[in-house]
Amino acid sequence: MSNAKHILTGMQILLNQEWKSNQAVIIEEGKIKAIIDDKMVSHHLPASVHEWPADHYLTPGLIDLHVHGANGADVMDGTPEALQTISTALTQEGITGFLATTITASAKELSHVLQCIAETTPTLAGAAVLGVHLEGPFISHGKKGAQAEGMTPDISLVKKWQHAAQDRIKIMTLAPELPGAIDIIKKLREDQIIASIGHTEATFEQTLEAIAAGCTQATHLFNAMGAFHQRAPGPTLAALLSDQVCAELITDEYHLHPAVVELALRLKGKDRLLLISDAMRAKYLGDGEYTLGTQTVCVRAGKATLPNGTLAGSTLSLPQAIQNMAQYSHCSLIDAINMCTVNPARILGLTAKKGSIEVGKDADLALFNPQWGAVLTVREGEVVFGA
Ligand SMILES: [Zn+2]
Repeated sequence: MSNAKHILTGMQILLNQEWKSNQAVIIEEGKIKAIIDDKMVSHHLPASVHEWPADHYLTPGLIDLHVHGANGADVMDGTPEALQTISTALTQEGITGFLATTITASAKELSHVLQCIAETTPTLAGAAVLGVHLEGPFISHGKKGAQAEGMTPDISLVKKWQHAAQDRIKIMTLAPELPGAIDIIKKLREDQIIASIGHTEATFEQTLEAIAAGCTQATHLFNAMGAFHQRAPGPTLAALLSDQVCAELITDEYHLHPAVVELALRLKGKDRLLLISDAMRAKYLGDGEYTLGTQTVCVRAGKATLPNGTLAGSTLSLPQAIQNMAQYSHCSLIDAINMCTVNPARILGLTAKKGSIEVGKDADLALFNPQWGAVLTVREGEVVFGA
């Protein structure tokens, strides 16, 4: 589909925050060339015209800021094959871009994985790697969740990793209460890397200090961080109350109670929430035993846990996350879609190219049936999933 001219028509299209019918999207040279009245399609031939049912929905391609793995592969496998497996697999749910997300490992292993991501990114044929989310290794002992034991923050290591990643690190999750973490947050800010608090035992006050130093995000808010208490409100409330902070949410039935999702929406507002999967290698494979780093993860009914019961990522799909978000928080489906299209594109600085269906932007598109199953995924004008 890359350089040829294609016209998608018939379905409802998410345009300017509304579902529009009787419109058609013209794709040429990887971009959205025009959006026209569908009666005018004949004026734009020759082109291959793809006619879809009126009960199908065309949205911007979905963006997942937190993906560890899928379909048997993990970013930490550190091979081009693993990244290609993940990139291909994610297209089946309408994802066109994601952040390859690492977990706590030795400095050397992380350098190797990051180098592999940097070298492989340009060759990937499915969903695009839009950068790296470095989750850890500067995380707290008490909130490591399914991660390995963290290490003491060291600014020289961050420099080394960003070099290995060829400047592809976009987000770093760290615990701000660790010694030296605040200086790292300031440095990340200077280098335009998003500092995201997570896997943390920080107090409310320590979190405010991190926010003052330039932290603008919270990693899977509420999970792997100190809980709210009326006399010790912890990192969650600091993140909820700061307008500077965007929050990742895993809106599956295991990570968050629906009322907590509603609370997050009320306090953060629809523009500061980011729906993520935190998906691990079991995604798309069903129940069974898998590994996450050096640990064994058991998946039952889609719920991934360590032997001690700690949640270990998810197998959630973004279309399901969108539906859950709307159901739990009573926001509109469009608001929920924005949380994995417009919002992540904005925080990655990609608004000019991605995140919405607009003329001149990359033709990153996802077409869904009435049950929100993806039937077609287009990345930069190229069909990467479906007919
Ligand atoms: Zn994660």
